[in-house]
Amino acid sequence: MRFAIPAGRARLWAAAVAGVLVLGWLSGVGPVGANGGQASTLASGRSAIPASGHGRGHTARRKPVAKHPEPVDCRAVKCVALTFDDGPGPYTTKLLGMLAARHARVTFFLIGGNIQGREAIVRKELAEGHAIGDHTWSHPDLSTLPKQAVRAQLTRTLTEIAKVTGGPTRLMRPPYGATDRSVGTVARTLGLSQITWSVDTDDWRDRNSAIVAQRAITRARRGDIILMHDIHPTTVNAVPRILRGLAKRGFTFATVPELLAARPLRPGTLYFHEGPIKTPRTARSPKRTTATSRSCTRAAHSLRCALAKRGFAPVRVPEQFAPQPLKPGNDQTAQPAQP
Ligand SMILES: [Zn+2]
Repeated sequence: MRFAIPAGRARLWAAAVAGVLVLGWLSGVGPVGANGGQASTLASGRSAIPASGHGRGHTARRKPVAKHPEPVDCRAVKCVALTFDDGPGPYTTKLLGMLAARHARVTFFLIGGNIQGREAIVRKELAEGHAIGDHTWSHPDLSTLPKQAVRAQLTRTLTEIAKVTGGPTRLMRPPYGATDRSVGTVARTLGLSQITWSVDTDDWRDRNSAIVAQRAITRARRGDIILMHDIHPTTVNAVPRILRGLAKRGFTFATVPELLAARPLRPGTLYFHEGPIKTPRTARSPKRTTATSRSCTRAAHSLRCALAKRGFAPVRVPEQFAPQPLKPGNDQTAQPAQP
């Protein structure tokens, strides 16, 4: 499906989003009002996780118990960030219940076209301490689009998120992990950091909760960002097992901004892991190359560039992280069931 908007409207949206971003930064706390006073930035995902530290029984006043305790410090504890793409969908509310039961917070990358009719779910995601990011309006491969269309895809969803939640987000995830210099430039101008992943559960392909859970649990290492999709019931049903399994391995669940808090979250920059760039664990045999791509001589704003600088042939993110070479599209099958 192609998405196009007139340039004039695109400019209007861009202006609206820029205004919201500026206001958000000025206020310093992000959205207000729409969350009933919830003071969290959509992208900063403040508010935390572990079940301990919850109550404040000794306080004289009857303050409502914080839904989520202190922010996670991933320098001190072993963090992993679960991420769910392509929603909100029919199973997202169920997922939120599962996450709340274990005080686990995650990051949702939303398709703008799926928000309509599910605004309350998006507000609930935020209110429960999760972080939210922009996953475009209709899930195209941004690296195949002209800049103006990339901007329209991102801006339209940014505007929708701001409308629904009252605040901006500073995260985006390019569909299929497909990005390039041009996408990076647009993301930078919109104030968005690009977030991909370091562990792919392939949940779109294997609609089997046991397999998805096993992959998430066994592949996770400290600082990983794990890719899943909350539009698949099999994935959602795998979540309790994933939470139990990872907690048993000593992990704390963090939002992406918490995971990356030790580093400045720069607009346009691509992040896929908490730590420095490293050789993907599941890559079969990455080809060595001596030349760094000419297009990568400046900042490593794409994973492709970062890998090229380390001597690996530029390939797409999904191919790097998949146990077998995949066609672009492992980020989803995922044309969501709803428009
Ligand atoms: Zn996606």
